[in-house]
Amino acid sequence: MKPENFIFAFMKYPNLISSKLPNIGTSIFAVMSKLAADNNAINLSQGFPDFSCSEELIGLVNKYMLAGFNQYAPMAGLMSLREIIAEKTEDLYSAKYDPESEITITAGATQAIFTAISALIHEGDEVIIFEPAYDCYQPAIELNGGKTVYLQLKAPTYSIDWEEVKKVINYRTKMIIINTPHNPTGSIMTAGDMAKLEKLTQSTEIIIISDEVYEHIIFDGYEHQSVSRFPKLAERSIIISSFGKTFHATGWKIGYCVAPKNLMTEFRKVHQFLVFCCNTPIQHALAEYLKKKNNYLELGSFYQKKRDYFFSLIKNSKFSLEPASGTYFQLLRYNGISKEKDTNFAVRLTKDFGIASIPISVFYHDGVDNKVLRFCFSKKEETLEKAAEILNKI
Ligand code: PMP
Ligand code: GLN
Repeated sequence: MKPENFIFAFMKYPNLISSKLPNIGTSIFAVMSKLAADNNAINLSQGFPDFSCSEELIGLVNKYMLAGFNQYAPMAGLMSLREIIAEKTEDLYSAKYDPESEITITAGATQAIFTAISALIHEGDEVIIFEPAYDCYQPAIELNGGKTVYLQLKAPTYSIDWEEVKKVINYRTKMIIINTPHNPTGSIMTAGDMAKLEKLTQSTEIIIISDEVYEHIIFDGYEHQSVSRFPKLAERSIIISSFGKTFHATGWKIGYCVAPKNLMTEFRKVHQFLVFCCNTPIQHALAEYLKKKNNYLELGSFYQKKRDYFFSLIKNSKFSLEPASGTYFQLLRYNGISKEKDTNFAVRLTKDFGIASIPISVFYHDGVDNKVLRFCFSKKEETLEKAAEILNKI
């Protein structure tokens, strides 16, 4: 380019990019996993298993690939997979969803959440979320012109204060996003919570997104309180789940969404242009694998053993902890160790001690720092032992 043309181009487009998310940086999960890799640290930050998923499931994917199921799946997902999801939802939560019009297979829960928000949030709509909040809700709300209304879960149980919810609901409130079992705190919502949510939203037009990706990872005899168990709530709810969590295959990015027909119709209008459809051989494999119910029913006890083992290894450390009731995350409070900001402390633990975690303040819009870190215990025993050895020295 001639110099004068270059100057012209520069003057014409001084601010070529006006960010739609000016306050958003790189996700903490990407940041901490990279820091862990760069420092050769044990990575208990981003939530993923360090053990293999089932050989049988891998074999099934392989079988369907070799059998030629490698072209586009139906837009809403393979019918046999949708049917077995309907069966599972009815068995577990006594809720009936029509596979034809009320269940859609998605490229993981992240896509389902983005799709649901894009399909339903208009400019100026308010969406209530509870902090600490999983990181993909707020950007999706803002990208769609919505306004995020933040409420805080109440420590140490990280429960919802329904009086606060009542106070912020107004005519602009379009949606409430809940997540149980809850990432990052490991707390769970009770049937009483659901009753309160139902009461608050009845005779409103509020839609619920219920992020239930850890539906099968729940401990100590508690039962998962899916919104689908509550008919009056279910009729205004979009429920999202993820096979990545349930079958130890977070890299496959496959999940699903169930919702009443009127909501699902809007959901699919967006879904078809966001991904159109999802991975075909994996859908065939999952449809077959889900027939054995123990493949998901035993997940809670599988992870409870890991939680208890991790707990037993670090119970004499200087961290304080309340055992998680669900998910594969354990919060550890370090106020007895350091006064450092949690983001700095997490970086220092990774670089100097060789263990990576997630600082909880990043899940608050205003960076509330309660000196708490999140550790993922979805790991082999030997990884948990190595991690505990480090944590006990801090
Ligand atoms: N919601 C929550 C609460 C999560 O923890 C995660 C991922 N761990 C997701 C949604 C996204 O799930 P996926 O990997 O299937 O997109
Ligand atoms: N949900 C996982 C976690 O909480 C991470 C998913 C991601 O990396 N986006 O750690």
